[in-house]
Amino acid sequence: MTAFLDRCRAIAGADFVLDTPAGMAPFLRDWRGRFTGSARAVLRPGSVDEVARLVRLCADERVPIVPQGGNTGLVLGSVPDASGSAVVLSLARLATIRALDPVNRTVTVDAGVILQHVQEAAAAADCLFPLSLAAEGSCTIGGNLSTNAGGTGVLRYGNTRELCLGLEVVTPAGDIWSGLRGLRKDNTGYDLRDLYIGAEGTLGIITGAVMKLYPAPKASITALAALPSPEYALRLQSLLQDRAGASLTGFELMSALCLDLVARHFPALPRPFPATYPQYALLEISSSESADHAVQLLESATGAAFDAGIVLDAVVATSVAQSRGLWQLREHIPLAQAADGKNIKHDISLPVSSIAEFIARTEPQLQQAFPGCRLVCFGHLGDGNLHFNVAPPPGVDNEAFLVNQEAVNRVVHDAVVAFGGSISAEHGIGALKRDELARYKSPVELNLMRAIKAALDPLNIMNPGKIL
Ligand SMILES: Cc1cc2nc3c(=O)[nH]c(=O)nc-3n(C[C@H](O)[C@H](O)[C@H](O)COP(=O)(O)OP(=O)(O)OC[C@H]3O[C@@H](n4cnc5c(N)ncnc54)[C@H](O)[C@@H]3O)c2cc1C
Repeated sequence: MTAFLDRCRAIAGADFVLDTPAGMAPFLRDWRGRFTGSARAVLRPGSVDEVARLVRLCADERVPIVPQGGNTGLVLGSVPDASGSAVVLSLARLATIRALDPVNRTVTVDAGVILQHVQEAAAAADCLFPLSLAAEGSCTIGGNLSTNAGGTGVLRYGNTRELCLGLEVVTPAGDIWSGLRGLRKDNTGYDLRDLYIGAEGTLGIITGAVMKLYPAPKASITALAALPSPEYALRLQSLLQDRAGASLTGFELMSALCLDLVARHFPALPRPFPATYPQYALLEISSSESADHAVQLLESATGAAFDAGIVLDAVVATSVAQSRGLWQLREHIPLAQAADGKNIKHDISLPVSSIAEFIARTEPQLQQAFPGCRLVCFGHLGDGNLHFNVAPPPGVDNEAFLVNQEAVNRVVHDAVVAFGGSISAEHGIGALKRDELARYKSPVELNLMRAIKAALDPLNIMNPGKIL
């Protein structure tokens, strides 16, 4: 063990091989604080070459590697198991924006660059990098790619996979595959890039990426609409898509309970309506022309929605600060939930057209099985993605309710599958949903995945126990 760590130190430098409990602690605990793993050491290489040499050493010694970016993942993918046999390999020191090409509209980055820093670099070049999620101040591009992260911009710009043109990867043998191509067309055999995206560190370590940039909109306008039900949210979204087309850049659904939790735990945030409504839609219209154009699009669409009886009430942000305030309501839902206590989370997707019916059918099933449970339902409606979280009834101890996790999952995930949906829309599988994946994927699909894993990582050293 000591000899192994000494060789790691010889590669990365003594300061960047952590093996004390205090030094390793932040890298071993998952973001939700549900699980703390154990590791031989945390390795913090400072270059792609060091990553490759460390991986080669781990392959020689058969030491499992858990790649880690910002450690904001929600499915126990970025933390080691309790055995203490693995090393965590943090990409945090690979944090350079290598190049920005405003004509090709691409930015080439190290995998450890924080998402917000990519957004800022794009904005400084008068471009937009549209990936946006509440963890953007600490998650990394490597983690975003490895989880194929979604967020609030997917409706218009797609998820991380659709934003990536090229990758640089250290393979499980310690070779460097340089696929940092900024090409929008490249039909030269199997798409290795797409294989690594969403692989959650089980096939290799992403060390760099070429990401797409977009023209920055001239103006964006945000509004919050109050609605009678999810069915009306779908009708509103459809109306906005018809009228605003690609200018509709955000559409988020939030139930009354979500805003109630935010108001309770973050009282300084705005309370847009004096009354409570069953559902809310946060919507954003962007214009490449002008602020007036964005306002005009929004007014015409919301006017039509009022006329059609779809919307009960609406507030429109008239300043950047107000717009920020409305978005903060949405972004604070996960934090408000965490402050409120533990709950049983589901990150699901469904055909957009089935969402209202799914909620209408599944909520009563949950109530019947777990009377009084509270459904914290919010999500990226335009992508068919719901965070369908089940909290204990008021006054019931959180830990006592969590014993129902398996039974709650069965109600929710069986319903998801019956509606043709997915049990993981954007957070991935990690260790948390591995058994659920095995339960719901067909044997053919699972065998294909296992064959890919065995071919690319025959020693099974890359994040073993995650996904499969
Ligand atoms: C408050 C909050 C809000 C969130 N909102 C969203 C959301 O809207 N949409 C969404 O999709 N997710 C969301 N997430 C989940 C999380 O932020 C994303 O999954 C994010 O992409 C993870 O990035 P990370 O750098 O933190 O990766 P980590 O958590 O460190 O790792 C995630 C997975 O990727 C692997 N990995 C990390 N870096 C690399 C690499 N360089 N090479 C190979 N494998 C690697 C890890 O082994 C692990 O399996 C949210 C999380 C929080 C805490």
